[in-house]
Amino acid sequence: MRTLVWFRRDLRTIDNTALIRAMDKVASSEAPDKGLIALFTVTPKQWQEHGVSERRQQLVVRRLEALSTELAQLRIHLRIEVVDSYQECGALISELCTRFAIEQVFANADYEVNELRRDALVKCSLERSDIPFSLYSDKCVFAPGGILTKQGRHFKVFTPFKNSWLQRFDAARLVVRKPVALTLNALFYAEHTFELPREVKKFKAATNVNSDCWPVDTPALLGALRLFSLQKANFYHDNRDVPSVNGTSQLSPYLALGMLSVRQCIARLLNGRNPEQLNLGEQTWLAELIWREFYQHLIYFQPKLCKGANFLVWCDHIRWQGDIAHLIHWQQGTTGYPIVDAAMKQLNQTGWMHNRLRMIVASFLSKDLLLDWRYGERYFMNQLVDGDFAANNGGWQWSASTGCDAQPYFRVFNPVTQGQKCDPQGEFVRHWLPELSSVPDKYIHCPWLWDEFASLDYPFPIVDHKTQRVRALQMYKEAKNNEC
Ligand SMILES: Cc1cc2nc3c(=O)[nH]c(=O)nc-3n(C[C@H](O)[C@H](O)[C@H](O)COP(=O)(O)OP(=O)(O)OC[C@H]3O[C@@H](n4cnc5c(N)ncnc54)[C@H](O)[C@@H]3O)c2cc1C
Repeated sequence: MRTLVWFRRDLRTIDNTALIRAMDKVASSEAPDKGLIALFTVTPKQWQEHGVSERRQQLVVRRLEALSTELAQLRIHLRIEVVDSYQECGALISELCTRFAIEQVFANADYEVNELRRDALVKCSLERSDIPFSLYSDKCVFAPGGILTKQGRHFKVFTPFKNSWLQRFDAARLVVRKPVALTLNALFYAEHTFELPREVKKFKAATNVNSDCWPVDTPALLGALRLFSLQKANFYHDNRDVPSVNGTSQLSPYLALGMLSVRQCIARLLNGRNPEQLNLGEQTWLAELIWREFYQHLIYFQPKLCKGANFLVWCDHIRWQGDIAHLIHWQQGTTGYPIVDAAMKQLNQTGWMHNRLRMIVASFLSKDLLLDWRYGERYFMNQLVDGDFAANNGGWQWSASTGCDAQPYFRVFNPVTQGQKCDPQGEFVRHWLPELSSVPDKYIHCPWLWDEFASLDYPFPIVDHKTQRVRALQMYKEAKNNEC
């Protein structure tokens, strides 16, 4: 038996359902020496269409190198193939199957519309040669459809989803499987030298971005997970809203690219316990992982979200009234609101932003600048090292009040009081905006009120929050009235 494992957003060997199933199949077959081949397809045009950030592209390529070494230890050769877009994957995989006499293709399922379409095309193409394409549920603890209401529908409110998830979850059945190295693999011995194709090296070599602060070797990732679970999870509920404290796990790029599985995270957190035995900090962190799953299920059941639609239909009537010239100020962090500007500098310089700040800047774009949330969603994807369609779309629609179980439209974050709450001494702001280092704590989130504001090299606010709040409420109200 010879199989092919197609890696996509599951760039790991431990607890990778498709990989482990393919290896099992080969090992238990009559001709285990035929072995298996691993494949990753680099799709530059698709990356561009999806707005995948250069940092994320770089991280993927760096990870592929580490993955190839880990796979080699299992005696599996990783092939990297470049095709422009998803449409070409079917022909490529069929051709590889013919060339290497592959009898079955294994992969883990994705849930976005284009990815589902890609997999349907590949399945069709393989069917012509009678080659089964086996897709596994791997990204979530429960695949979409695994958590439904009593009426058999998907949940549209998070808390009952979470309760149902917790009811169904059985810690005893949470298994994190480690692959056992193949003893024989003809394909590995034939092709075992790994080299990145020339067209792929350029993604790694991009000089305008740097993803080096995100290690890519598995021991380092497991170390980060362990460190968080043992030392920080206990205090997560207190620290998670304070951006100057390194109190969250910062595992999001690894979960987004599947360098770690959600099961690994939960198993490490539980450490042999049941969810009821977790303390408040740990329970709060588990709830965030369940939010991740909530949004994964949502895009599966609401494919319109992948096509740019609002979740709430009445929001289609919103007439965004902002001045598009303000977008560049938001992107560059020159709005005159320190917490917004510092957060955007963090995003632009590192590709990562603290969750509380993502909420603040997203609210600011939609409710202070009155600009369509989709501009922000796109910009985030272009910058984030952890860009994940479901979480990003969910976060943006939550903040702009157009989403599923979103913040009500009449709740408008005040960027000054939000800053005062999450960064009372202005530590975070001063770090990212050194030009404000001399501003007293009292004015750090509203420097324009300080007597010496004129001496600072920092802009006056581009909009007045109070005025914009009233305009936002009016804008949303009109859309709601237009619904009928
Ligand atoms: C506007 C906006 C855009 C966002 N875009 C993304 C994105 O592109 N990719 C992304 O992974 N997260 C996104 N989030 C969710 C969240 O901000 C990040 O997951 C989190 O900040 C990552 O940091 P962490 O790993 O330290 O998270 P932790 O607080 O340690 O949480 C652990 C993990 O749970 C998941 N998670 C946490 N919060 C959420 C959430 N609200 N929704 C879904 N999953 C969550 C992530 O995988 C995260 O790594 C977005 C949130 C908002 C408000």
